[in-house]
Amino acid sequence: MSESWRRHAVCRTMPPGTFFVNDPGEVEVVKKVCRGCPVVEACAAYALAQEDAPGVWGAMSEADRHKRRRQGQTAARKERSAAALRQKAAVGSMLTMLERQLAHPGRWVWVRNYAGPGSAGAVASQLRSGDRLVPPGRWQFEARASAGGGSDLYALYEGADEAAAS
Ligand code: SF4
Repeated sequence: MSESWRRHAVCRTMPPGTFFVNDPGEVEVVKKVCRGCPVVEACAAYALAQEDAPGVWGAMSEADRHKRRRQGQTAARKERSAAALRQKAAVGSMLTMLERQLAHPGRWVWVRNYAGPGSAGAVASQLRSGDRLVPPGRWQFEARASAGGGSDLYALYEGADEAAAS
């Protein structure tokens, strides 16, 4: 990350130590100086990336930065679990779609659309290799390009697995 923003820092011309205060009242005064600084956002981003920068940076005390990092981590954790739930729902709906085909063997059916051009192909490979849950039986999976630049996954249920049926 470029640090050219430092050239425009208001604190460049201020006495060293001005931003290294602990008294809550002094911290608030210094934060006000930061709020009027043209590079406050770049400074805040820099300070958030440094675990051990003492004092006030980007209108944030050390405690403020600690809190912001924790909030960021919580938000990232929530996004990860939401993504996992979305993934689970997608897998569940795909399985339901495939289970429906057990009554209609020998027919190619559309299963899902993916935004990425290679995504349906990657899923088709996982399904063929058994990396993803598929109802028992003989299946074929195919990826085809879709109109919007994405890809579609198709499946064909051929019938019961002869080895399992005998
Ligand atoms: S935001 Fe505050 S600490 Fe950062 S450069 Fe500006 S005056 Fe200095």
